[in-house]
Amino acid sequence: MNTISTIFREKNLKLTPQRIAVYKYLQSTKEHPSAETIYKAIQPNYPTMSLATVYKALKTLVEVNLVQELNVGEGNFRYDGNVSCHPHIQCVSCGRVDDINGISFTNLNDKVKDYTDYDVLANKLYFYGICKDCKDKNDD
Ligand SMILES: [Zn+2]
Ligand SMILES: [Zn+2]
Repeated sequence: MNTISTIFREKNLKLTPQRIAVYKYLQSTKEHPSAETIYKAIQPNYPTMSLATVYKALKTLVEVNLVQELNVGEGNFRYDGNVSCHPHIQCVSCGRVDDINGISFTNLNDKVKDYTDYDVLANKLYFYGICKDCKDKNDD
């Protein structure tokens, strides 16, 4: 909680209960939910909150770098409370998004420098596949 209140104070942003709820929910899950999923999860505790409010809260949290926005294709945005640079994999069958742990691609930035005159700052890697649950279902 410390980080979010400090960052919001520094940026002169209002720390509304809705923004805190969205942030806390993202800290509590590794499932990379969409805005709709976040809305459904926290709406029971905030009955007056609209989906638009969730979108606005997410936009603000992304702007102050407390939340990472993942564009997994076709305008399908997912959200991650872990803002460190890490690769993701999405199931093409059910749409779930998982972290890929234990492998780093930061050295890719250096490699790519040989092929461009840009200063390479970052990369975002998305892999696509079939998750274990979907594989198991197909095996039946
Ligand atoms: Zn799947
Ligand atoms: Zn992630």
